[in-house]
Amino acid sequence: MKYQPIIGLEIHVELNTRSKMFCDCLNNPNECHPNVNICPICTAQPGTLPVINKEAVRKTIKTGLALNCQIPEYSKFERKNYFYPDLPKGYQISQYAAPFCKNGFLEINGSPEGKPSASNGVKKIRIREVHLEEDTGSLIHEKNYSLVDFNRAGIPLMELVTEPDLRSAKEARKFAEELQLILRYLNVSNADMEKGEMRVEANISLRESGIKNKELGTKVEIKNLNSFKALEKAIDYEIERQSKLLALGEKVIQETKGWDDVKGVTISQREKEESQDYRYFPEPDLPSLSISQNLIDEIKSEIPELPQQKRERFKKEYNLSAQEIEIFIQARALSNYFEKAISELGQWLKEIKPEPKKESYFHLIKVCSNYLLTDLRGLLKGASVRPPKFLKKTWEGKDFFTPLEKESLTGLITPENFAEFIILIYEGKISSPIAKMVLTEMFSTGADPSHIIEEKGLVQITDESALEKIVKEVILRNQKAVQDFKKGKANALQFLIGQVIQETGGKANPDIVHNLLNKLMATAGNV
Ligand code: ADP
Ligand code: ZN
Ligand code: MG
Repeated sequence: MKYQPIIGLEIHVELNTRSKMFCDCLNNPNECHPNVNICPICTAQPGTLPVINKEAVRKTIKTGLALNCQIPEYSKFERKNYFYPDLPKGYQISQYAAPFCKNGFLEINGSPEGKPSASNGVKKIRIREVHLEEDTGSLIHEKNYSLVDFNRAGIPLMELVTEPDLRSAKEARKFAEELQLILRYLNVSNADMEKGEMRVEANISLRESGIKNKELGTKVEIKNLNSFKALEKAIDYEIERQSKLLALGEKVIQETKGWDDVKGVTISQREKEESQDYRYFPEPDLPSLSISQNLIDEIKSEIPELPQQKRERFKKEYNLSAQEIEIFIQARALSNYFEKAISELGQWLKEIKPEPKKESYFHLIKVCSNYLLTDLRGLLKGASVRPPKFLKKTWEGKDFFTPLEKESLTGLITPENFAEFIILIYEGKISSPIAKMVLTEMFSTGADPSHIIEEKGLVQITDESALEKIVKEVILRNQKAVQDFKKGKANALQFLIGQVIQETGGKANPDIVHNLLNKLMATAGNV
């Protein structure tokens, strides 16, 4: 019998607000001393009263709006009661009956291997709700004892719940990855899974494929997924485990399991509690909230361009490939840099008469993105030296490949200089081997490219008569290759071009050399 996997995700996100959810303690995920960001409110001393963090509410609504949710006018907080040593109050303030955001969706590319920017295979994953609650403290388990740190207790925690619309581990991963991007674009969270800033729980059940009955099977919830890879592996593992059970005629038990990343298996933790176990009731210390249309409009206006819109714009404006676009989507600082360079190039193009065609514009952009994504990134990856501090200022983006790469690019090559460099290539002032040298020099000194080529005498040689002399010498010295060429060996021509370019220290224009060689070898007897 064949089974279809049914998957729904519950995702917790730590919001990057200045202070905690109901008190003025700092929300600092990098605090390394335990129990310093605490106060009578977040440690639940008797007689204290919580105050709602407005920034957290705005960030939750912003997320909901970006995910096409409705924002009901009426919302309220409720108490979720349970005991655990990391929960000082004995209850968590959360939302239950009236969350801030409801009934949204996120579109992902549904086909397993499809490129994210392709418009076909788009699949709508419904989002049931996005609500706001507070985080618990953290427990550190040693061999014979456990420690508790309340720095995290009371940090604003947003929870997003999808409908069971996902059908494979790959789709679930894609959803989570796209959501992470959106959270980062919105600047509501750093959403790093390894740091627990974004925690994904996967609910998985199987149902016989092809049958009319739409009833869902018993689901298992998996926690403790610390990376996208773990999410994907755990879901695949669980699909396999449940299929085997069902094939044997056994039943899946509804339970919560943990993922053991080292062993690659899910482990039973507890049978799932029902919501009535938590005895939810409206939080008596907080007022219910009325969200005005004005506030919604104001928050909506603060939503920046989102990843999918940016993919479409990059395709339309720059005609880049899906792979190139995806790099720019991930590395926002790099794409800001790219767009600055492109705008410089655009200024320059405007001054050219007659005005260049659209194709030349796209060609120029292509050259720019190639050098940025291949050559400059290569240099960044190999960079081991940090640039001087005073140069860092010119770099304003925050996220990049790694902190080192980010700092390496900082200021050393300004977008203006980079654009000038591309123009030099485009105008044929420097050949491509020379271009690589110039870029390396720009990278390590920050000098502007025209200065470098002037100082080092690297201008491309396009003067035919100067080149003709060298070409003749090369022909004389390489008679065997000339004969090979006449016998129709294409390699021989490449070899001869290489010889001439080498002779000029890489400065000869390869097209001119090519033409000269063809012309002179046709009359080789006369050389
Ligand atoms: P519970 O009441 O057990 O918490 P919910 O209905 O609230 O379950 O759903 C929690 C999450 O589990 C949601 O993301 C939802 O999409 C998903 N889910 C619900 N039922 C199933 C099912 N049968 N199979 C897979 N996922 C499911
Ligand atoms: Zn506090
Ligand atoms: Mg539920």
